Amino acid sequence: MRLIAGGIMHETHTFSAEPTTVESLNVARGDELLAFAGVNHSLGGVIDECRERGIDLAPAFFADGVSTSVPDRQTFDFLVGELCSGIADALPADGIVLTLHGAMVAEDFPDAEAEIVRRVREIAGPDLPIAVTLDLHANIGQAMVDRVNVITTYDTYPHVDAAERAREAVDLLVRTIQGEIRPTMALAKPPLMPVPQAIATGEGPFKTLFERAHEMERSGEAITVTVAGGFAYADVPEAGIGLLVTTDDDPAAARRLADELATLAWSLRHDMIVRNTPPAEAVAEAIAFPEGPVMLVDVGDNIGGGTPGDGTVLLAELLAQDAREATIVIADAEAARAAFDAGVGGMIQVAVGGKTDRLHGDPVPVTGRVRLLCDGQWIHEGPENAGVPVDMGPTAVLRCGGVNLVLTTRKSMPGDQQQLKSVGIDPVRQHILVVKAAVRWRGGFGPIAKHAVYADTPGLGSVDLQRFPYRHIRRPIFPLDLETAFTP
Ligand SMILES: [Zn+2]
Repeated sequence: MRLIAGGIMHETHTFSAEPTTVESLNVARGDELLAFAGVNHSLGGVIDECRERGIDLAPAFFADGVSTSVPDRQTFDFLVGELCSGIADALPADGIVLTLHGAMVAEDFPDAEAEIVRRVREIAGPDLPIAVTLDLHANIGQAMVDRVNVITTYDTYPHVDAAERAREAVDLLVRTIQGEIRPTMALAKPPLMPVPQAIATGEGPFKTLFERAHEMERSGEAITVTVAGGFAYADVPEAGIGLLVTTDDDPAAARRLADELATLAWSLRHDMIVRNTPPAEAVAEAIAFPEGPVMLVDVGDNIGGGTPGDGTVLLAELLAQDAREATIVIADAEAARAAFDAGVGGMIQVAVGGKTDRLHGDPVPVTGRVRLLCDGQWIHEGPENAGVPVDMGPTAVLRCGGVNLVLTTRKSMPGDQQQLKSVGIDPVRQHILVVKAAVRWRGGFGPIAKHAVYADTPGLGSVDLQRFPYRHIRRPIFPLDLETAFTP
């Protein structure tokens, strides 16, 4: 058997001002994709599963990157063009596995994944089985579902099962190719658009939803079930929760089960409302907590959700309240360069952060001693993305009063202890760890955290959706419109 692997993975924040370009993404062609072997990533799962089964895998093209703004038409056409020509070169094959995100938006294509699979389908022909893997934050649309045969989506947030779900996709694709199953999908889209923090799968409404979804899978009623939380910061009609049930050639059962999950999600909607602590109070609470590390969660600057990572609201508060042994990472190429110019041991005065936009706090003037300078390269210890390398660019650690200020050249998602260990900071020994995240931090820091405070910081990751000028989402939608009604 021969399969083709490839994809484009981008979570698009439509209110972001940070450009998404071919240069801002990580791009791999042909055998370069095989670098993902053995890592906890969707593409890694595809490669490993194919190798273990003795499947001949042809790697085509893959691009991904941290969440940023809407790529323009030219960028999108280039990426999809590369993917399609990689696939065309690798044909003939028995099937294709596409590693996508599900919440990508491109200029002219609000449902970018639907357009990607449309173009791949054009090359592959109407009958070649195609499997797709998605992120839990996918804004799933019917147009994508209609064009593919198999879809699997992470069941976890933090996303610790990326490779496992991709292995499942390969398994279902192989069984489809062999004629053992005929996957039949039904999608339900209740008018629900929760913020990332409400989508954590370890507790609350999504834990309940996944319990029922896994029951459907275990009982054999469904082959696979997707509970996608959606991505609220994409202003597109598909934004929001998607319940996607796949049965073996039983469309009526797929519809019934998807509607059942939609009804269950709707009944849990009030548990999807999130309220956080005002920044000054949050910092005071973290300082006063007797044990550390306390996770101080900068929800408004949730890098994985498309924010710039240079938000300063909590830095300003930590300095003002004279926090001791607090660590914060801020992406600021200019400030990092100033530290490099001063050299290790040098004292610098520099305005830090708040440079990408005016939404995440103003630049904060700091005076600090340079403790460490490095290349900013490290490898995820996991569990999420275990084995995936990160390049933060030239990185400096400044000591400002009791605060360890890590200045990176490029933004990178927090949530992995190696980010701090790689710059000489032992996270267990810190009293406060600021994480610019919503939920992702729990993967790497959950086991050592003594307490967590979620700060209601302003910015593109704000839990108050009323702050965003939506124009294209479905209305009414909960929780933006509290009076929304729904029957499946
Ligand atoms: Zn996600």
